[in-house]
Amino acid sequence: MSHLSVPISYEFFPPKTSAGQEKLLRVGEQLAASQPEFFSVTYGAGGSTQDGTLQTVLDLHQQTGIEAAPHLSCIGATRQELRERLQRYREKGIKRLVALRGDLPSGMGMGGELRYANELVEFIREEFAQDFIIEVAAYPEAHPQAPSFEADLQNFIRKCKAGADSAITQYFFNADAYFYFVERVRAAGIELPIIPGIMPIMNYTKLARFSDACGAEIPRYIRKQLEAYGDDSESIQKFGEEVVSRLCQQLLDGGAPGIHFYTLNQAAPSLNILKNLK
Ligand code: FAD
Repeated sequence: MSHLSVPISYEFFPPKTSAGQEKLLRVGEQLAASQPEFFSVTYGAGGSTQDGTLQTVLDLHQQTGIEAAPHLSCIGATRQELRERLQRYREKGIKRLVALRGDLPSGMGMGGELRYANELVEFIREEFAQDFIIEVAAYPEAHPQAPSFEADLQNFIRKCKAGADSAITQYFFNADAYFYFVERVRAAGIELPIIPGIMPIMNYTKLARFSDACGAEIPRYIRKQLEAYGDDSESIQKFGEEVVSRLCQQLLDGGAPGIHFYTLNQAAPSLNILKNLK
């Protein structure tokens, strides 16, 4: 455990080159010093392959001794493909998964035999019982394709009831959205931990593009300030660290049961935020 009394976890994407893989293992070592509960490794986004995700999971675990969890998406996959992948994970000693629907590139439709993440969670429970700890995604500001906040909330609740153990949120910069979401989930009798996903601010253009796509709102005062810094990346990172540290402290003070950092394969931004927290 870090100096905080709640668990921390860090998310990575599988590097595309062997140099990137080596660098990631060094980043993993640096982050392992803060004693996270687990690392997780994305799948699919940015063209990563199943093997790339699995190899990164195994390498990180071997290098650092920290448990590493692959993300698994069901979109575009058959039941048999998912079954084989899960068997492989079990054989490799993997105990935790982040179970997702995932996204196909635009224009490719849905594909696959399971349509939504709740069906993937059901499938894992049916075929693998309690062999895996299942993490699912949560959207305090609503998933971008959801017809309404209420519909998305009900879909999230369905996913929890299908057998998820814990949830990690999409990143957000507005603590009230998180607290409201948690309150509504609790009112439905769902008690699983909902861990805020935290995105350190490193680069405004990329953050703005990504936030539009995933439906995360950048509050106006943050946007205006970041825009004003232009290409002064030192000021962007300094201001980013300040606002994101403040957000994390607010979340922890309000009872958030952990923090999951979207590291983008870098150690310093998450560690700088972590050291600011009480
Ligand atoms: P779902 O929970 O299935 O929800 C998707 C949409 O369908 C929502 O609008 C929901 O309201 C609706 N819906 C859900 N269930 C039903 C139902 N039964 N009937 C009708 N509508 C329904 N993407 C990747 O490609 N790779 C990754 O590694 C990855 N990791 C992620 C990690 C986290 C923590 C988060 C928050 C997101 C991640 N994503 C990743 C992005 C994710 O794949 C996308 O947001 C995707 O569009 C939705 O996945 P989901 O599992 O949340 O879907």
